[in-house]
Amino acid sequence: MTSSSPSSGLLFIVSAPSGAGKTSLVRALLECDPGLSLSISCTTRPPRAGEQDGVHYHFLDRAAFDEALAAGAFLEYAQVFDHLYGTRAADVIHYLDKGSDLLLEIDWQGARQVRARFPEAISIFILPPTLEELERRLRERRTDSSETIARRMAQAHAELAHWTEYDYLVVNDRFEAALAALHAIVTAARHRVAVQRQRLKTLLAAIDAA
Ligand code: 5GP
Repeated sequence: MTSSSPSSGLLFIVSAPSGAGKTSLVRALLECDPGLSLSISCTTRPPRAGEQDGVHYHFLDRAAFDEALAAGAFLEYAQVFDHLYGTRAADVIHYLDKGSDLLLEIDWQGARQVRARFPEAISIFILPPTLEELERRLRERRTDSSETIARRMAQAHAELAHWTEYDYLVVNDRFEAALAALHAIVTAARHRVAVQRQRLKTLLAAIDAA
């Protein structure tokens, strides 16, 4: 596999601690930007209520995940909480090669691995407005026990420590403002000359020939 060329689609990475509102923001971003697709990860985590195989995740048992890993199928993978998560390289290549822009919703460990392979990937980290607000949001999830909340809070702090590794920081204080910022980042990335050189080939060739 080679790194993506300027003629390929753009690769976006979005990471955030649990409780920062990443999933809702990404869902809203995809709704207002039909040119952006979301990569479906593989995971050994069991499906939550309402989650469908092949839609929210490819749900694999540990043996199937290990087999895919040994076969070199993953562009990146990581253990998050008690489960394994990975992005299939073939899916990413498929999207980028056909010129589609793809978004990976992955943790900091995966983001590091993707950046090593695709240094031009655009990475965005979503922050909560305050640590108190993050804790409040984590406590609001009634499905979690207090022990789980404490673990999630510790995990959230560990994730937050990696904000320096990202290209953009978006604070999710007001949802609409955070969404607008995310959309602006995606739009600006698409307008870079290196990208437009390929996407506006005909127009630019005509201008250069005139
Ligand atoms: P959840 O189990 O709540 O859906 O996701 C837990 C965490 O795993 C989130 O931080 C999410 O970004 C991360 N995650 C989901 N898919 C992947 C993946 O393919 N690779 C990596 N490295 N992390 C992932």
